[in-house]
Amino acid sequence: MSDNQRAGAAKPHGSVSAATVVDAFALARQGGSLQGEVPLSRMTRAIEGLPEQPQGDAGLVRWSVRGEMGKGVVGSSIAADQPLLHLHVEAHPVLICQRCNDPFVFDVDSSTVLQLVKSEDELDDDLSMDTQDPDVVDSLPEKVVGSHRFDLLAQVEDELILSIPFVPKHLVCPGAQAEDGDAQQASATQRPSPFAVLEQLKRKD
Ligand SMILES: [Zn+2]
Repeated sequence: MSDNQRAGAAKPHGSVSAATVVDAFALARQGGSLQGEVPLSRMTRAIEGLPEQPQGDAGLVRWSVRGEMGKGVVGSSIAADQPLLHLHVEAHPVLICQRCNDPFVFDVDSSTVLQLVKSEDELDDDLSMDTQDPDVVDSLPEKVVGSHRFDLLAQVEDELILSIPFVPKHLVCPGAQAEDGDAQQASATQRPSPFAVLEQLKRKD
């Protein structure tokens, strides 16, 4: 309720207790920035199917957003004079390793650029067709429909969802050295060589 009431007045120079529903176009035009924290437990779409997330600091998503008017991409006019939002999302969700079934903390530290368009029709104006250069295409901002009541937290959650691997795995599972009893003792006193670890991974697959 209160979010909707605040929506009319953009607060691009807001503090940590920022409104999370903002006028996205005003934010870009004025080059404003906002930041905040939200518990992972409130990101219900992102944590669906994940184990219980930690409370307190460990379970916080930290985000920041900065508005800018695009100056254009070298070699094309793609983002010139386009309202942009730079979004940064940091979180440490607990995931379940799909190899050993143990929970582990996954670090999300993700930056993205959103290009605000006025309607869904404009999402389809795929200007990336104008260039064949994959480097340029990769550097293009992601288009989203902006609005005067733009839900920043929904964007934060989308970014979080994109950052969480579909099949999460430890880099090296903690139990990987403990397959046969003696190996466990050995690994406690000496680090396995990277080659041994690779060999182990190959055998697992
Ligand atoms: Zn694992």
